[in-house]
Amino acid sequence: MVVHSRCYVMEVEMRVTVDFDVCEANGLCMAAAPEVFELDDDDVLHVLQEAPGEDLRPEVVAAVRSCPKQAISVS
Ligand code: SF4
Repeated sequence: MVVHSRCYVMEVEMRVTVDFDVCEANGLCMAAAPEVFELDDDDVLHVLQEAPGEDLRPEVVAAVRSCPKQAISVS
């Protein structure tokens, strides 16, 4: 009897979203993860990377924790 075994590794992409209804544009997330968040000169927050690589997860998690409005979600 031959048994074939296969291992599948599924990479789940990180998705970053901001609830702009509660964001107060204080830029704390940008300080934690400048590769992902940017506050422009008009105090408007931009998500530079909605699906950042896993290497940025620590910074994104730090940004989530630093947000006083709990406006950032990661899925
Ligand atoms: S830390 Fe939160 S409230 Fe501040 S700019 Fe970022 S998303 Fe908005």
